[in-house]
Amino acid sequence: MIDKNKYELVIGLEVHAQLMTKSKLFCGDSTLFGSSPNTHTSTISLAHPGTLPKMNKKAIELAVKLGLALHCEIEQYNYFARKNYFYPDLPKGYQISQHTAPICKGGFVKIKSKNGEKDILLNRIHIEEDAGKSIHDIDENYSCIDLNRAGVPLVEIVTEPVIHSAEDAYIFLTELRKLLRWLDVCDGNMEEGSMRCDANISIRLKGDLKLGKRVEVKNLNSIRNVKKAIELEFDRLISITENGDVIVQETRSYDADKNTTFSLRSKEDADDYRYFPEPDLAPFIISQEVINNINNTLPELPEQLMERYITQYQFSDYDAQLICSDKDEVHYFEELIKYTQHYKAVANWIIGPLKYYCNEKNISIIDFPLSHVLIAELINLTENNQINFNNASGKILQYLITNSNQTALEASTALNLVQENNEDHLSQWVEEVFLAMPDKVKEYKAGKTGVIGLFAGEVKKRSKGKADMQLVTQLLNEKLNS
Ligand code: ADP
Ligand code: MG
Repeated sequence: MIDKNKYELVIGLEVHAQLMTKSKLFCGDSTLFGSSPNTHTSTISLAHPGTLPKMNKKAIELAVKLGLALHCEIEQYNYFARKNYFYPDLPKGYQISQHTAPICKGGFVKIKSKNGEKDILLNRIHIEEDAGKSIHDIDENYSCIDLNRAGVPLVEIVTEPVIHSAEDAYIFLTELRKLLRWLDVCDGNMEEGSMRCDANISIRLKGDLKLGKRVEVKNLNSIRNVKKAIELEFDRLISITENGDVIVQETRSYDADKNTTFSLRSKEDADDYRYFPEPDLAPFIISQEVINNINNTLPELPEQLMERYITQYQFSDYDAQLICSDKDEVHYFEELIKYTQHYKAVANWIIGPLKYYCNEKNISIIDFPLSHVLIAELINLTENNQINFNNASGKILQYLITNSNQTALEASTALNLVQENNEDHLSQWVEEVFLAMPDKVKEYKAGKTGVIGLFAGEVKKRSKGKADMQLVTQLLNEKLNS
């Protein structure tokens, strides 16, 4: 039996995130996903001789924004380099990337790991252009190439080798994707390839400081697959070592269907790329003023927002985390609380019935078909016990969606769902029920407290179903125990 416990898993992740610009990094071609193949391909994307790259300012701003949010040091003096490759989907024969001067250095992402909070340290974030896409499964005899993606701006976010479990890698990527979306830096859509991850994995004996030989797994198109691939590699590397074999530095690919990894090639070292400064792009300096301006436009980050909600609205950690995990939901929350002070109820409505509806219809909460005023009114009516939550979030909400010209109170009245919550009326019914069932009252007093349900049912009947049952239960308890 192999003792896995003596080994430590070491992981460093490289995440490519497509910056949300309208045009490519060095030309005006559109970055739109899903267009017909080879339609966003000017002579620059096609690398015709004599064409020259021109820097996209927005891409730089987005990279700085990300760096500031991830606590990085921003490099003010930047230049690009050519990283030479021979790939069929790279018409220039090199990728324009940053080499020795990444735009962001250091930084970290805070994660909530199983064993508490951790800062996952970043090595750097640099800007580079994407390659095109080779497609091998359309034609039996030919490979096809789509160059729409060639030249699209990416940032590569590189962690230090400081992640020690597949679970933490999963949590880190989930958190990073949330931040990328929150900042409007990247849409984080892994199925469309706008966020991609390579995992570098090695093992060492626990207590060792020296890093082991690493393997790099590519083609991980979901966060779950990253986790699976890491788990597979951990076991594979351990069994190689235990067999007395040597781990070779190599690039592997993950096959999601078979849940295995297989070798693609032995890994290149940096020297193999023959980096040299890109002569067609002048170095550029990002002034402190520009950095400050971008810093001033940073939105409140989820962490800060959570803290504020916990102190300002007395949210639990759990509620704060739920509502702050989605920017659209936070925005919706902020809009609703302009019209109601029932903060906790607003959060519950968003996380509950509103989100449920949106998931069913596959729409964002921002596109919920009712106005903020109307939803807030519905929440207020519920919190004031004029209607009950089940009816409010069920029948009344549904009714309003098709009758949005009515107020929430009008809708509740039309559906005959406004509750009777006049205490005098309710008390009177309660007394009548007690008078009609003296035996049951005796049973209750003798300890058979379950009969309270019977009383409640009788009161409900007398009210023709309109009694505020929460209040009725309260009255029953008061009167029976006084
Ligand atoms: P390359 O560009 O050749 O892939 P980098 O220096 O960019 O090399 O490192 C890539 C990633 O590999 C980084 O996230 C780093 O933390 C990680 N890494 C480097 N060495 C190891 C190792 N021995 N085990 C695990 N991860 C490693
Ligand atoms: Mg790399």
